[in-house]
Amino acid sequence: MAAAPKNDPAAVEAEIREKIHLEILKRTGAYHSNDHVLLPSGHHTSEYIEKTLVTTEPSFTEGLGAVIAKHFAPWPLDVVLSTGPGALILSHCVARAHPSRPIVVYGTKGHAGGQRRVTLPAEFQRLIREGTRVLIVEDLLSSGVTVDLLIDLVEQLGAQVVGVGCLWRRISVDMHGKPVFSLVSRDFPTYAPSDCPLCKKGIPLNEEFVRRRNLRRPAAARASKSA
Ligand SMILES: [Zn+2]
Repeated sequence: MAAAPKNDPAAVEAEIREKIHLEILKRTGAYHSNDHVLLPSGHHTSEYIEKTLVTTEPSFTEGLGAVIAKHFAPWPLDVVLSTGPGALILSHCVARAHPSRPIVVYGTKGHAGGQRRVTLPAEFQRLIREGTRVLIVEDLLSSGVTVDLLIDLVEQLGAQVVGVGCLWRRISVDMHGKPVFSLVSRDFPTYAPSDCPLCKKGIPLNEEFVRRRNLRRPAAARASKSA
């Protein structure tokens, strides 16, 4: 978060709110800090978010979804568009708490011709059309690629992206002027193993998240990746 003047009450309040949200994510076991974590990229970091644990506590998820809904309450919405099945529980909670009572749909991620792409399942396609007002909801906004592709998709259908709501946003992500609201805005440094200060201190490397991810991926995907 950018440094704000100490006496700015709005900035202080935002900072406190962010701390509370971080605490909530810690309670679910999703947020790890003061650790030495191996990332899927092979880099190391001291903080990590385990996305699959973010929405395991219904009352927390409802509370977090309500905060996002409240932020976007002044804008009428027709559709909450989840970036994928993974952000669907949060999307449901946002839609449930928004005064417009929007419907909820999700995109699906895939690859075509070596490029990442997102599509809408056929059943949802008639639900986003000219004039539809869409809020995109993501759990962890990391590279922003998926959200970018979804914005393009929505706009190609003649619909309008009202904004993007997410639990966590890496500060470096630029969403081309679209209003992004995140409960936590935070970047953490990642290091190549050769210049990782945590390695230099001899702190044991936590490989459990990468191991778990590999277990979840189908064997065929693992084989083609390592080929
Ligand atoms: Zn390290």
